[in-house]
Order: sequence, then C-alpha cells, then structure tokens
Amino acid sequence: MRQKIVAGNWKLNTTVQEGVELAKAVDTIVAEQGAEDVVVVLGVPFTHLTKVAETVNTERIGVASQNCAAEAKGAYTGEVSVSMIKSTGAKYVILGHSERREYYGETSETLNKKLALALEAGLTPIYCCGEALDIREAGTHNDFVVNQLEETVFQLSADDFKKIVIAYEPIWAIGTGVTASSDQAQDMHANIRAAIASKFGEEVAEGTSILYGGSCNPKNANELFANKDVDGGLIGGASLKAEDFIGIINAY
Ligand code: PGA
Repeated sequence: MRQKIVAGNWKLNTTVQEGVELAKAVDTIVAEQGAEDVVVVLGVPFTHLTKVAETVNTERIGVASQNCAAEAKGAYTGEVSVSMIKSTGAKYVILGHSERREYYGETSETLNKKLALALEAGLTPIYCCGEALDIREAGTHNDFVVNQLEETVFQLSADDFKKIVIAYEPIWAIGTGVTASSDQAQDMHANIRAAIASKFGEEVAEGTSILYGGSCNPKNANELFANKDVDGGLIGGASLKAEDFIGIINAY
C-alpha cells in the first residue's frame, strides 16, 4: 500500500541552532510516540540540512530541502545543487511550492529541470500543486491542478513518476488558518488520483502518496487524513512546534 507521510515545511524560520533544537525535540517525540506506519520528513533551510540530518535518526525521519537549483553545477552564484543537497544526508526535495512559484517566478519549465535533476540524484521530490482563491471561486480548480501536473510531473516516465510524492496545497489555505474542508480535500485528491490513473494506469495511481497542505493542525488533521485519498500532510506553521507536529503525525 502507499506510504502515509507527514512532512514539515519550516520555510524561512529558525536559525541553525534553533533548528537543531527543534529537530532534536521532533526526533525524541517521534521515537517515543510516533505512529510507526507514518513516514516523517522535515523540510528545512539549506543551511540546516547537514546538522539536522546528523541530529535525527534518519532511518526514522527523512530530511528535505525546500528547493534546489535548476542547474547541476557551475557558475550560478548563490544556488544549491541536488548533489550538494544529497551530500548533506537529505533524501527529499520540496519542489513547486506556491511561494516559490509566486515570489520567485518558478515556471513549469524550471520545475521540469529541477525534477529531472532531483530524480537523477536520487532525491525524492515532494511536488506541490494547488489553486488560488479566484480559481476555486470560478470552479475551475480541478482542471487547473491537473494542468499543473500535465505540464510537469506527467511528462516523466512512469518509472520516475512512481518515485515522487504529490502535495496538494490550495493557496487560499496556506498560512491563512482557513483549511480546505474534508470534502474539498477528498474531491481534489480523488481528481488528482484519477488523472494519474488515466496517464500512468491504476496501479501507479494507487501507489502514489498525495499529501494535503494548508493550515493543517492537530485539531483538523484527523478529519482530513480520514479521507481515502489523503495520504498525509505537508505542514507549515504547525511543524515549528514538536508537540503540534506529533499531534498531526498521530492523527491517523
Ligand atoms: P501552513 O503551510 O501549514 O502554514 O498553511 C503549508 C505549506 O505551505 O506547506
């Protein structure tokens, strides 16, 4: 069966020292209380990757970067490559987050380069998709999200697609305190899974983990995760406190 995954996305928060403390707290609480069938991932700033990977039990907790360069190496000042990320001990890379698309102009074209590099380096992409409020209000959200996938991850071979994780994050729910209702989440996740099935077949669709993200917290996670097509969460704000994060991990 497909994996249940709860991934934290720390975004632009914590110093290295604070991050190590948080990672230690998460590591301890996951070891003591964490549901064993849930894969736990921490999406941390580049500067934290090595230290966090050294701090946690990486057999139990995967470490993720929140982005990677669209080039493998060379004269790209300020960029961080997939091989650099891999060499820190990280196993995942979050790609296509709406904040990167909106504030840093990431397009499907850039994301395709990043996806190819990440897969080649053996990192697991957590690929984000999701619509803005006006698209939701216009009722075109299902097509919009499938189109985001068609332009990017649906261009991969079936073998490569099987290695990725999808995160559906409606932009109107990110950091707003307004979460998608359980029905809205299930509808979209079923829509995404159906699109995967028509592109790559039932078996690949059934094996793909599709996470929900957007104001997920220990109170609403249980209802969201109870949906048959919701396989976990990508957690922003609530991943910055170990007690909240474990509440979400154990929400199944
Ligand atoms: P949030 O962020 O949980 O703070 O809404 C989720 C995300 O952006 O990944």
